[in-house]
Amino acid sequence: DFATLPDLIAVHARERGERIALADGGGTLDYAGLDRLMDRVAAALQRDGVAQGQAVAVVAQASVGYAAVFLGALRAGCVATPLSPSATPAAIAAMIGDCGAPIVFLDEANAAVLAEQAFAARRVVFGAGFEDWLAPAGAIPSPVAIAPGDPFNIIYSSGTTGSPKGIVQSHAMRWAHIASNAAAGFGDAVTMIATPLYSNTTLVSFLPTLGWGGTAVLMGKFDARTYLTLAERHRATHTMLVPVQYQRIMALPEFDRFDLASFRFKTSTSAPFAAALKADVVARWPGLLVEYYGMTEGGASCGLNASAHPDKLHTVGQPLPGHEIRLIDEDGNEVPPGGMGEVVGRSPTMMTGYHGRESATREAEWHDADGNRYIRHGDVGRFDEDGFLILMDRKKDLIISGGFNIYPSDLEAVLAQHSAVADGSVIGAPSEAWGETPVGFYVAKPGFEGEDAGDILSWVNARVGRTQRLSALHRVDELPRSAIGKVLKRELRDRLETLA
Ligand code: ATP
Ligand code: MG
Repeated sequence: DFATLPDLIAVHARERGERIALADGGGTLDYAGLDRLMDRVAAALQRDGVAQGQAVAVVAQASVGYAAVFLGALRAGCVATPLSPSATPAAIAAMIGDCGAPIVFLDEANAAVLAEQAFAARRVVFGAGFEDWLAPAGAIPSPVAIAPGDPFNIIYSSGTTGSPKGIVQSHAMRWAHIASNAAAGFGDAVTMIATPLYSNTTLVSFLPTLGWGGTAVLMGKFDARTYLTLAERHRATHTMLVPVQYQRIMALPEFDRFDLASFRFKTSTSAPFAAALKADVVARWPGLLVEYYGMTEGGASCGLNASAHPDKLHTVGQPLPGHEIRLIDEDGNEVPPGGMGEVVGRSPTMMTGYHGRESATREAEWHDADGNRYIRHGDVGRFDEDGFLILMDRKKDLIISGGFNIYPSDLEAVLAQHSAVADGSVIGAPSEAWGETPVGFYVAKPGFEGEDAGDILSWVNARVGRTQRLSALHRVDELPRSAIGKVLKRELRDRLETLA
C-alpha cells in the first residue's frame, strides 16, 4: 500500500480537477493546473540534466510557484530541498553545498540577498525567469520509477541547539504520514499555511492537504491580523500554527470580531505551548485544537487533543498510533515507570538519516534489547499516571548546579506567573561555586517596563526550591527567537557573556 504524492495529485487532477489546490496573494491554481505545472517543472529539470536522486533547492517565501517546484521536483524523482531564507547568505551557500543541489530556485528578494554569494548551483528566479525556464505548456516528463525508500526531501533541522543538519525523509515516510491523517478531514480542507515551507512544522499540514485533495492557502510573511482576515475570507477549516503565532492572534483586541466558525482542526507544534494559552484557544476559537510534540527527525510523535482533555493541558499528550516512546537515563537504560528520562522514539515516520553524516546519524540512534532502532529526541520528560507525556527541557538546556538538576521549564513557569512578565526564559550560566547557576531573562508587559527586576527575582525565588533559585534576572526588549518562533537559548548564553 504505497503511492507517491505526485501520483496522488494526478488522481485529484483527474477526479476533481477544478478544485483549488493552492492559493497565494497572487491567485489560485486548481488540481488540473497544478498537475500540468508539475509536469512542466519535471520536464524542465530532465531537460537540464538534473538526475533522479539529486536535490532541488528553493530559497523563497511561500508561493504557488514555490509549491509547484517542490512537487514537480518530486515527479522527476528529485529530492525537494526547501532552505531557510532567514539563514545568513554564507549558511545558505553551505546548505546548497551540503545537499549538492545543481539548481536553486529563488524569489527576487532572496536572489538579491544571494547575488554576491558564490555556490555551484544554477539560479532560477521566480517571475519572468521562471516562465522562461519552464518546459513549454503541454510538456510531459519521462516517467520515473520511485521506490518507497527513495528520498523525498531534505529538511534542515531548526538549528536551535547547533548548526542545522540535513534530515532525509523517504517517500514511504511521507506516505505513512499522509495516510495516518485519514481521519483529519483534509479531503475537503482549506488549510491556512502560515509558517515557512522549509520547516517540517509546515509540511506536516501542507503535504496531507495536497495528498487528500484539499486547498492550501499560502501566506507569505505572517501577521496576526492578515492571518485572520485571510482565514475568514477563505472559510479556512484547518491550520498549523506555532505557539507564538497563537499568542499574537489571541492577543489581538479584535479577535472576537472575526467569524472563524469554519475551522474544524487546528494544530500546533515545535515549541512549548503554555497551558493557559491552549485553554484560551479552546475557549475562543472554534474547532478542535490538537498539539503535536515531535521532531523533524521523526523519532515518534505525541498528540494532545486539547479540546477533549482540559485537565491535561500541561502535557503534550500520548504517543500517536504506531508511535512508540521510551525514556532512557544517562547510561542508555530505560528509566523505571514514572521516572524522568531522555525521550527516544520509533515510528513509521522516522528519518532515513542525516544527509552525508553517518556518525551524527549513529549518535542520534538508540536500540532496544531486540535491536529495534529508535531516535534520540534530546528532550527530557516523564509520563504521568495516564500515559500523557510531560515534557521538561532539552537535555542541552538542563542546568546542573551543585550536583542538582534544575529544569529551566520549572523556573520559566513561575516567572510567567508574575504580573509584570510577558515572556521569559531561563538558562544556565557558568559559576565557579556551583558549576552552573540559573539566570533568567524576561520581557515586561506593556506598562510594566519600570518594575524592578530585583523585586521580580525575589518574587520568583520565594516560590521555588532552595537549590533552584535564580542568581540573576535581566530585562530584555525581546527574546531571541528563530524564524519558526523557538527561543534561541544559545543566543541568550552569548548575551550573558557580553553582560559579564
Ligand atoms: P536542532 O535539532 O537543529 O537544534 P530543533 O530541535 O529545534 O533544532 P526541530 O526538529 O524543528 O529542530 O524541533 C524539534 C524540537 O522542538 C523537539 O526536540 C522539542 O524540543 C521541540 N518541540 C517540538 N514540539 C514541541 C511541543 N509540542 N512542546 C514543546 N517542545 C516541542
Ligand atoms: Mg533537534
